[in-house]
Amino acid sequence: MTVEVVQPGTLYIVSTPIGNLDDITHRAVKILSAADLIAAEDTRTTKVLLDHYGISKPMLSYFSHNEVQRAPQLIQRLREGQTVALVSDAGTPGISDPAYAVVRLALENGFPVVPIPGPSALLAALVTSGLPMDRFVFEGFLPLKKGRKTKLEILKQEHRTIVLYESPHRILKTLGELHDSFGERFVCVARELTKKFEEVVRGPITTVCETLNAREPRGEYVIVIEGARKSSQDTAEA
Ligand code: SAM
Repeated sequence: MTVEVVQPGTLYIVSTPIGNLDDITHRAVKILSAADLIAAEDTRTTKVLLDHYGISKPMLSYFSHNEVQRAPQLIQRLREGQTVALVSDAGTPGISDPAYAVVRLALENGFPVVPIPGPSALLAALVTSGLPMDRFVFEGFLPLKKGRKTKLEILKQEHRTIVLYESPHRILKTLGELHDSFGERFVCVARELTKKFEEVVRGPITTVCETLNAREPRGEYVIVIEGARKSSQDTAEA
């Protein structure tokens, strides 16, 4: 594979697989191979990916608890003319993952920020859900405590398809709360996408909960929820 010519002093935001290591673009591999520095959410996780593709590059950690201190250090590398590739543990950096601080700072300092698009769990789940995907809202993880009820009240009115991220130990609780707030709705729960135990369960919330209840929740989950049905008045006005 030829090495992509990277631009000096450029920050590349590189999407990486959400499970299956084959899910990476040729261009992402070229950029990672050519970068001077890879800023990674967890350098051990990224090393597995880099080893798989025979890439050996200097890495620096960039995660939620050090991004404010780390961002200026990465900008200094750009100032020195280096090419910096930013990756997260999985999927697209910035999507419920660190990236925002360094993207902002790079732009404020006049450095180009170039996306290298690729996987993201939200789009993978959305396109398999069977729910309308022409318009949707992505809420990431719901607030854990403060603001959770209010968020659910707001989302209850949302007509577009809603996409949430969720952890295994909260999946059933969250589905229960969605049912309490929204009533019965069609949902799609996508688990471990692109991995060995990939599973997609679709149906009314109650049925999906029964299916999930039958075994211990494990892995990573995306919940895709049908938007509020439009009243006949809304439809007439549309
Ligand atoms: N940046 C990532 C992206 O672009 O999808 C998301 C990172 S966020 C910290 C991690 C969450 O994404 C998980 O808790 C889960 O909700 C979702 N996720 C990531 N990989 C997944 C997969 N393979 N299957 C289902 N959900 C996944």
